[in-house]
Amino acid sequence: MRPRGVAVLAAVVAVVCACSSQPEARQDPSAAGTTTTTAVTTTTTTPPTAVPGPGGTTIPVFQQPYAFGTPQQHVPLIVDGMVPVVRRIETDRPYVFITIDDGAVRHPAAVELMRKSGVEPTLFLNSKHVDGHADYFKGFDDVATVHAHTATHPDLTGTSYEFQRGEICGNADLLRAQLGARPKLFRPPFGNFDHTTRRAAADCGFTALVMWTAAVNDGVVQFQAGGRLNAGDIVLMHFRHTFVEDFLAFLERCKLDGVTPVVLGDFLADSQATV
Ligand SMILES: [Zn+2]
Repeated sequence: MRPRGVAVLAAVVAVVCACSSQPEARQDPSAAGTTTTTAVTTTTTTPPTAVPGPGGTTIPVFQQPYAFGTPQQHVPLIVDGMVPVVRRIETDRPYVFITIDDGAVRHPAAVELMRKSGVEPTLFLNSKHVDGHADYFKGFDDVATVHAHTATHPDLTGTSYEFQRGEICGNADLLRAQLGARPKLFRPPFGNFDHTTRRAAADCGFTALVMWTAAVNDGVVQFQAGGRLNAGDIVLMHFRHTFVEDFLAFLERCKLDGVTPVVLGDFLADSQATV
């Protein structure tokens, strides 16, 4: 049942115990000598740091460090007719990026998790999972951004230009027709690509080929290097039956490592866009 796109990462699993106790907010009684006769009504608008989630879970909540949808950095240029390969985002701000692939399992709690957490993921979707299920994926309109992952999820490496162009352009056409916007970012299935892939992606109107630096599997965040999330990391997960566990594991990991998930497209904005 498991999508096969994660095999690439199998070698690098940093075992992380996410069970470290977090400091609890301690309610020290006020020692300032104020009497209890004055009832102090707390009117602060400090946002919650966690809210109840599906199945009795707790969802960490993140605040937008800038207005999402506002371009922050430009995408690298297309050179020699090939889209650039983006493996991580070059930034010294404590931001990371969550991407969710395929669309094979249409988990009913996915939208709720995104909306309540304040996190807006980037979805790389295949035509074969969207076609016939557009209503489900339209539900992500205001909580996620949809990008492309080919029509049928083949290994593109070594295949013809015509085949790759058909898979990549066809996916873009379907996503635009069924979900309303033509995607600009492309992720190759299994992370496998060649020069032909990069050329076909450019010809289909894409601006970048996006890889990843960490992944979430079975509720555990796994790193390609090191033992924590760092600024600029791009995290891969999938639409699976374990969606809740995987998404919450990512959020908890962000809290633990002091990083905030932000919108990938804001850091790969079109060159013409205004920063
Ligand atoms: Zn995939």
